[in-house]
Amino acid sequence: MNMRNELFIDGKWAPAARGGMLEVFNPADGKAFHAIAAASAEDVDRAVIAARRAFDDGVWPRMSGRERAHYLRRIAEVIRGRLPAIAELEVRDNGKPRAEAEWDIGDAAYTFEYYASLAEKFDEERSEAIALPDQRFKTRVVREPVGVVGAIIPWNYPLLMAAWKVAPALAAGCTVVLKPAESTSLTALELAAISEEVDLPPGVLNVVTGLGPDVGQPLVDHPLVDKLAFTGSGAVGSRIMAAAAKDIKRVSLELGGKSPFIVFEDSEIDKAVEWVMFGIFWNQGQVCSATSRVLVHEQIYHKFLERLTAEARKITIGDGLKKGVLLGPLVSDLQHQRVTAAVEKAVAEGATVVTGGGRPKELETGYFFEPTILTDVPLTSSAWTDEIFGPVVCVRPFSSEKDAVALANDTRFGLAAAVMTRDAGRAERVAAALRAGTVWINCSQPSFIEAPWGGYKQSGIGRELGRWGFENYLETKQVTAYVSDDPWGWYIKH
Ligand code: NAP
Ligand code: MG
Repeated sequence: MNMRNELFIDGKWAPAARGGMLEVFNPADGKAFHAIAAASAEDVDRAVIAARRAFDDGVWPRMSGRERAHYLRRIAEVIRGRLPAIAELEVRDNGKPRAEAEWDIGDAAYTFEYYASLAEKFDEERSEAIALPDQRFKTRVVREPVGVVGAIIPWNYPLLMAAWKVAPALAAGCTVVLKPAESTSLTALELAAISEEVDLPPGVLNVVTGLGPDVGQPLVDHPLVDKLAFTGSGAVGSRIMAAAAKDIKRVSLELGGKSPFIVFEDSEIDKAVEWVMFGIFWNQGQVCSATSRVLVHEQIYHKFLERLTAEARKITIGDGLKKGVLLGPLVSDLQHQRVTAAVEKAVAEGATVVTGGGRPKELETGYFFEPTILTDVPLTSSAWTDEIFGPVVCVRPFSSEKDAVALANDTRFGLAAAVMTRDAGRAERVAAALRAGTVWINCSQPSFIEAPWGGYKQSGIGRELGRWGFENYLETKQVTAYVSDDPWGWYIKH
């Protein structure tokens, strides 16, 4: 598999107009192993014009869903055929353990297969007759692709986040300009190469690499883009929404959170520990829905904390390509600095570090950070209120269901929440009370391509995945015909 280093625009590979390059670092050793094109506004303009042309004059939006599905299934097939190599590329670029990368790449392939099946059904479902009381008119509702999509994605699940946006957009008949995260662009470039291999028409998928302000911003501001789909930080999401307001672009945002996990006193401690660990240490905690605030009933708080601490200390940390490693490095030096600073600030504000807290002693290079448990975190501390996006969990006791729900909901975010209890009635009651786009009962983190994904409150707008994710990329058109032989008679008779 070739590691690409150019931009993919209008079906062709080309260097950035200004010739800039960005080094690509392996997070496990901090060493540069490749370089990619650093694009600028000129390149974005070329990509958007190509996508515009492919949409306005090209075959893609005019094909049947079944024909588009054929391409999506081919993309999935090539991804699956090359899964181990793509997963290894993802590990070198992002740092995550190989088993997690393989899981992600398989999910990315499945995302293309799933949206291929929706594209196939779309042929029957895209036009729907509406019953009207006035028989002189016939109305149908037609769903059409929204147009040119600007997709901007983060670095935590590089290929999977690309698939979550590109697959439904292409299935709907849209054309796409994708801007991957600067620190993890390699598998998005591989996706471009795969789209070329399966003969996707030129301009339908364009991949432009580079920095947020140099590539993301001109894409967001471009007047020929119809819709923006973004996953990342709240700060950038807010800017994107403001920019979209200028010319009323459609926008969907997925902005992370500070998700709670409530553990009731009737929980089995082993199961609770296992799911809490998965909820915060999976992908090094760089997960938008990470359950980073754990609320434990006071009756089992000490026992739970002891077990969680013991298990967290056992996690094997290291290069994601090494066998047996469960926690890889953070994605970048910058993210390592951010997580380190967040823990230092929490301690200054009164938190206690129960375990972890910084770089593991035995790993002097690479962006490694220990699994970290904080207690005594003040409710006003940013460690409690803000996303850390690292393997750092805040644990806190509660005394009643009412308190637990109030603490859980006391956040500006609402992406996800989890509750563990053996009492089914209580689980349902709490699930209903939690203000979040996803509520997990007796688990944390599983997400399914078939089910909607997105946030309440400041965690975002709109839903990805499932048929909701497909809707994101559709417009709704009413077509009304006058079918009576009688004259309309408004001016003639009145
Ligand atoms: P970010 O800046 O929001 O990055 C997300 C994407 O937006 C990247 O592709 C980025 O490009 C791009 N971008 C940056 N500035 C932009 C602009 N002005 N206009 C358009 N696009 C722009 O996130 P980050 O800096 O990588 O991470 C910061 C924090 O965000 C994390 O610590 C975490 O709390 C949160 N985060 C959340 C998610 C999530 O899944 N919800 C994912 C990642 C991060 P570059 O790659 O060049 O920055
Ligand atoms: Mg990298």
